Amino acid sequence: MSLSDIEIAQKAKLQFINNIARSLDIEEDYIENYGKYKAKIDYKILHNLQNINDGKLILVTAINPTPAGEGKTTTTVGLGDALNSLNKKTVIALREPSLGPVFGLKGGAAGGGYAQIVPMEDINLHFTGDIHAISAANNLLAAMLDNHIHHGNELKIDSRKITWKRVMDMNDRQLRYIVDGLNGKANGVPREDGFDITVASEIMAILCLASDLSDLKIRIAKIVVAYNYNDEPVTAGDLKAAGALAALLKDALKPNLVQTLENTPAFIHGGPFANIAHGCNSVMATKMALKLGDYVVTEAGFGADLGAEKFLDIKCRMAEIGPDAVVIVATIRALKHHGEVLKEDLGKENLEALEKGLPNLQRHIENIKKIYKLPLVVAINFFPTDTESELDLVKKRCEELGVKAIVSNVWAKGSTGGIELAKEVIRICNEKNDFEFCYSVNSTIKEKIEAIVTKIYKGNKVNYSKSVEKEISHLEKLGFGDLPICMAKTQYSFSDDVTKLGAPDNFEVNVSKVKVSAGAGFIVVLTGNVMTMPGLPRVPAAENIDVDNNGKITGLF
Ligand code: ADP
Ligand code: MG
Repeated sequence: MSLSDIEIAQKAKLQFINNIARSLDIEEDYIENYGKYKAKIDYKILHNLQNINDGKLILVTAINPTPAGEGKTTTTVGLGDALNSLNKKTVIALREPSLGPVFGLKGGAAGGGYAQIVPMEDINLHFTGDIHAISAANNLLAAMLDNHIHHGNELKIDSRKITWKRVMDMNDRQLRYIVDGLNGKANGVPREDGFDITVASEIMAILCLASDLSDLKIRIAKIVVAYNYNDEPVTAGDLKAAGALAALLKDALKPNLVQTLENTPAFIHGGPFANIAHGCNSVMATKMALKLGDYVVTEAGFGADLGAEKFLDIKCRMAEIGPDAVVIVATIRALKHHGEVLKEDLGKENLEALEKGLPNLQRHIENIKKIYKLPLVVAINFFPTDTESELDLVKKRCEELGVKAIVSNVWAKGSTGGIELAKEVIRICNEKNDFEFCYSVNSTIKEKIEAIVTKIYKGNKVNYSKSVEKEISHLEKLGFGDLPICMAKTQYSFSDDVTKLGAPDNFEVNVSKVKVSAGAGFIVVLTGNVMTMPGLPRVPAAENIDVDNNGKITGLF
């Protein structure tokens, strides 16, 4: 029987984290140990390394996700290990997991099989406390807001227009909609309220985009927490909260260093939602990795239409960086799913369905090549059920578009399963690169939304409800018109309709809501309903997790 992810992880020979840091020439002074295998790296190192050239940045993204699973994190980790084994000084940069999904649906966030980050139990449970710090900062702001109203409401906050919610790092649908401030004058002002999961907090997005502590503070001050009776924004700065929040976050802002099963250094830092936020690890971690490594492998959430689009148009724009190469992960099973094969039949050879699902991959390839003008390679994440003819067909269709498709077997074999992919990545990192954004921030909000919908999704048209039209002009009037766009859309389709698989044409996208995340620095554009406080499934993963008398954890993936 094959081993589970946690069993493989527990067999790993970890190195002390100081040795890993030393392999990157990080001086002891910058290392803040959290036990033997985790450390935070002081952001002062960024200042001292500012004259060092950046390494090559490799973005791992994927086709539209399917229930069949794609394996972006697994590929990111395996590719990092493979580059390292080719004697390239490599650093991996990934998001940190939230407790909600850990106890909800089975499925890890630290890679899988023989391509994992360790210590995986720690990474998945509390880690270095960053997410708890974000909850505390978020909730301090909420407490200060309600306290302000309680004590006379000098800012004339309209309690029906409060946009700031409390958060906790748990899937808890019971708290989605609540009434609070009950039981008389001494106990606050009653109002409708609700909780989000911590990773959906704007504080998380801000932490991930901030370039340093003072930028963090400036961004926090800009957060719009409510509107007053004149419909003008009330900010965290107005509540004099920015300093205290930044103080709570000063350590959370420092990137966390861990390692892979094969001892490749990895930063795991920040984990914003991939729908209402931009869905990738912190700018601080990516920048630190670029200063310390010759090659940096990082992942963007969901498929390339959402994850890569936001990585490129939001994160890269703000951080003034750009990838040297893009890896698009696809699996034969997922492509057959896009070709409308039922889940139970995904393991059977089916060239016709594969041909039918391939346009999903082809469209992502074209977008990366023609819209963003970036060099790319396709990684076929190998499953034992994949047949030679199926693999050949994908390779052939990619070659027709001038792109190599390479089989990656890092899940089963670790670095040795990723050598060919790593060699192609090294090669294309030196190819011509004319990186361009999909839109200019100087266009109007509508022009920017339409650029994403028509150029990336290939939709025909965007529809706005009356209230959305009104809110767009309101936001432009308030001076938020020049921010980039953060699309919240189903990850399963290029369109806003989950059932449209493959590469749908002739569709329209319906915008249901727009709002500003002024601290993060983007306009969130929602299509359909987005859940910001998930619930647990009927049988939560928590039921299978246990710990023995020695502190050894079982059942975690
Ligand atoms: P993503 O980052 O795209 O969400 P992950 O890399 O986290 O995907 O993988 C999702 C799940 O699929 C993990 O549990 C992982 O162990 C599993 N997985 C990934 N690649 C393979 C593979 N080639 N064979 C079997 N399982 C895999
Ligand atoms: Mg992932």
